[in-house]
Amino acid sequence: MSLNVKDYIRTIADFPHEGILFRDVTTLFADARGFRIAIDQLLAPYAGARIDKVVGLEARGFILGGAVAHQLSTGFVPIRKKGKLPGAVISQAYQLEYGEAVVEVHDDALKPGERVLIVDDLLATGGTAAAGISLCERLGAKVVGCAFVIDLPDLGGRRLLEGLGHEVHALCA
Ligand code: AMP
Repeated sequence: MSLNVKDYIRTIADFPHEGILFRDVTTLFADARGFRIAIDQLLAPYAGARIDKVVGLEARGFILGGAVAHQLSTGFVPIRKKGKLPGAVISQAYQLEYGEAVVEVHDDALKPGERVLIVDDLLATGGTAAAGISLCERLGAKVVGCAFVIDLPDLGGRRLLEGLGHEVHALCA
């Protein structure tokens, strides 16, 4: 039987809050075949494209983005939650359902003109990815694509990112 990426992802109800259906990709990462398929499929739309760096969004974007960067033979840049990076950073705030969050990147992590691929496990409202895009662009980099394992289309993230002029690829909904 041929399995696809979605078959390796577990859904856990009411985590971290009541009413949330949490898409748990640890079961995908733990399976050698599932993880390989996910990385290969994340890369596929960018075959032949020039990508200088892969940018991963904390935290599951680090696991995926690290593997994608290794496969592409590029460097990897983490975008982290506020206060986690040791060097000089630039910060970007974005809205959550209740309140605000801040993500950061080292201010020397990307050079003007570098072409980057943004990677995360899941696209929901798109707020995290849009903040990540903004950090990359503020450093002068060009975002050539945003790759996710899961897109939750009802939450509008794809609409938001495409409305900002960015290409979005997701492996499943
Ligand atoms: P958003 O900024 O709303 O697009 O949320 C995307 C970020 O939140 C990603 O880094 C995801 O890992 C995480 N996330 C949001 N909703 C879920 C969910 N239902 N299951 C797992 N992770 C989620």
